[in-house]
Amino acid sequence: MTSKGKKKTSRRGFLQGAAISTAALSAAELLKKEVADAASPRQDQAIPLQSTEFDFIQKSAALEPDKIVNSACQFCNSLCRLKVHLKDGRIIDVLGEPNDPVQAGGFCIKGPMMTQLVYNRFRLKSPMKRVSGNKGDSSSKFEPISWDEALSIIASKFLALRDAGQAKAIANKTSGRLPRGTGSLVGRYFSMLGSPNNTDVGPVCNDAGGNALAWTFGLGNFTNGYGIDDVTKKEDLGSAKFFLFLGTNQAETHPVTFAYLLRSRVQTKAKLVVIDPRLTPTGAQADEWIAPKPHTDLALVLGMLYHIVTNNLYDTGFVKRSDFSRDVEKKYGSRLLIANQSNEFKMICAL
Ligand code: SF4
Repeated sequence: MTSKGKKKTSRRGFLQGAAISTAALSAAELLKKEVADAASPRQDQAIPLQSTEFDFIQKSAALEPDKIVNSACQFCNSLCRLKVHLKDGRIIDVLGEPNDPVQAGGFCIKGPMMTQLVYNRFRLKSPMKRVSGNKGDSSSKFEPISWDEALSIIASKFLALRDAGQAKAIANKTSGRLPRGTGSLVGRYFSMLGSPNNTDVGPVCNDAGGNALAWTFGLGNFTNGYGIDDVTKKEDLGSAKFFLFLGTNQAETHPVTFAYLLRSRVQTKAKLVVIDPRLTPTGAQADEWIAPKPHTDLALVLGMLYHIVTNNLYDTGFVKRSDFSRDVEKKYGSRLLIANQSNEFKMICAL
């Protein structure tokens, strides 16, 4: 007996007792026990670490959609295909398109968050007019007004500024997610108004890349794509043998296309080199992660350019057909030399 008056059972005694009691069970009881044992994991069986796909939606009346609408996410240029699940006219789920060869059902967190554009309680459903308080004052009060009233107010203020010769006091920044062609209409409108201050997200987004592409390839648009190219019928970016990512964290910013590249890399064995001062999730996938000192990208690229140019490691035919090499030398020659003096770029970048 233990100090608390309970009989202490030895391990051997417990096992013997269990064997006897099992022998005493009827066949039906044994069957019940087997089912129960199968339902609860045995202590000596490891539970798989990887989660298994359970489809909780199937056969759930509440989660089964009565309509699925094909749509697309507009939050980035991956333009993921979406399947919007509706029940009684309400969005109950948003899934990626599983039959898209690049997307393969994937998307990032922003895709399903699009539901918030519809149901978020802070969503503005009509223009709001300040009825008290000063501009920028957090205690200002606003009231909803009709679109007609809002447009009349804006038009009269615009015209008053134009008539006073102050049209340039009106500035505009257009979103990159407007329907195609809208930006050029806004541009024409500002020209007619007489204000040069019309811009879009380009200067803080991809204008530099677009200009570099136009300068190098004669096209301001990307020249590559994901999946099978419609014209050549061949795999495009997925067939690359070497990926160099410089200052781009695609695992987080473009997870769908990055996952596609990783899948294709399994087949092609393409090498992935990531240059980033921080070990990002993208860098963690790389064969080689190079970490220059922050803010030294330009020195690094100039050093690379110098190496390529001085060792003739470029497509001479392509360069002969373009003004590229002459322009590089004319515009950046002195900087290239400076960048490579005594491998200076390596010191600048702390490599
Ligand atoms: S990657 Fe994300 S943000 Fe970009 S299109 Fe797909 S779901 Fe939208």
